[in-house]
Amino acid sequence: MSFPSVSIVGAGIGGLTAALALQKRGISVRIFEQARQLGEIGAGLHLSPNGLKVLYALGLKNAIEKIKFQPQTIAIRHYQSGEPFFENPFDDNFRSTFGAPFYGFHRADLHKMLLEAVQENDAACIEVGMRLTQLREDDKEVKLDFEGGETRSSSILLGADGVHSTVRTLRHPQLGAQYTGHVAYRGMVSVKDVASDLIEPKMNLWAGPAAHVVAYYVRRGELLNYVALTEEDDWQTENWTTQADKATLAARFENWNDTVKALIDHTQNGQCYKWAILMRDPLESWSSARTTLLGDAAHPMVPYLAQGSVMAIEDAWVLAHCIATINDPGNALQTYEAARLERTANIQRAAWKQGQLTHAVGRGNDMSERRDGGGFADSAWIYGYDACDLFPA
Ligand SMILES: Cc1cc2nc3c(=O)[nH]c(=O)nc-3n(C[C@H](O)[C@H](O)[C@H](O)COP(=O)(O)OP(=O)(O)OC[C@H]3O[C@@H](n4cnc5c(N)ncnc54)[C@H](O)[C@@H]3O)c2cc1C
Repeated sequence: MSFPSVSIVGAGIGGLTAALALQKRGISVRIFEQARQLGEIGAGLHLSPNGLKVLYALGLKNAIEKIKFQPQTIAIRHYQSGEPFFENPFDDNFRSTFGAPFYGFHRADLHKMLLEAVQENDAACIEVGMRLTQLREDDKEVKLDFEGGETRSSSILLGADGVHSTVRTLRHPQLGAQYTGHVAYRGMVSVKDVASDLIEPKMNLWAGPAAHVVAYYVRRGELLNYVALTEEDDWQTENWTTQADKATLAARFENWNDTVKALIDHTQNGQCYKWAILMRDPLESWSSARTTLLGDAAHPMVPYLAQGSVMAIEDAWVLAHCIATINDPGNALQTYEAARLERTANIQRAAWKQGQLTHAVGRGNDMSERRDGGGFADSAWIYGYDACDLFPA
């Protein structure tokens, strides 16, 4: 079968994983990224087994081992005492149950790994400084217009352009993402600057009234990443690079335990970012005959289940499978959408619910139903999903 030409708008984690998944199936891609330089900010993220299984299938297992950090457990703690309500281990049993581990990463390391893998397959497939402004689709192709007057065309267009997606806006102008009232402060701390026993090598989450803080190691344990999530009425700027004021953050968490306060205090200069959390109700459809969406462009979600990037990675695998195996672009994109819509919508809703539960600690929720840990049974529908098994290479 001859393959269609594929353009991807956006070289984030979703766009790069889609590019790699398509390349692995022998389909060449062009990627258009608005930024002039490729990279990610200094923040962390977790990838759960359902995402790692895809990256392993894309041949990245060895590269991942060089940049990951393996937390011992997830420990959910009281915001003032710091004592755990419960802990669940990321042990051998976890790996064998879900088919892969649970790892922490520096976003920049993960992004660089994906970028290198894509460029190894095709050194010239990414064009930077290319901001999509308009698209026109007919029965033969999609024409793309970029800021500055450049144009390109291809048989299929994948919008992997994030929560403020231009592709989605052009297709569904009425459906913008909304501010949730939640703000994430994201900071990076060098382990050399703090006492070696300040943070246990776990995915630590302190839950309190209308806020929570997550802290974990990244980059083989050389750096500590934290995310402090609070509820604020009046702040809506959302991008990767808004610098936050450390003193404001310290004041917000002054009644919290000493570990959280020490973390904030040791944030590296210029390494605390402020990020408004946006989301949108699930879309009923996100594809046309030649254009579709993936990742945050399709289903932006709050980060309380750590699944935004993971969903983009799953999308990428399924999308590549459909394009490679179905000899008609419209059919391929509809099949992809049908496979992804319900799962991603369920995760969007579950992530919001999780945030509500966590922020109710100190306001009625004492986590009593979780005191025995309960294992990862609640997360089995998320972590146990295996895109590679359902949509084989
Ligand atoms: C505080 C916080 C913590 C998180 N933690 C986790 C976690 O632990 N695990 C997890 O899986 N997820 C996590 N997420 C979610 C995750 O960050 C996102 O879901 C993920 O980055 C989405 O990837 P993406 O490729 O879809 O979009 P993006 O990463 O936003 O990439 C979009 C790309 O498109 C480009 N672009 C945009 N518009 C245009 C245009 N018009 N033309 C050309 N290029 C364009 C952008 O420059 C960008 O490079 C977290 C999010 C937050 C806010």
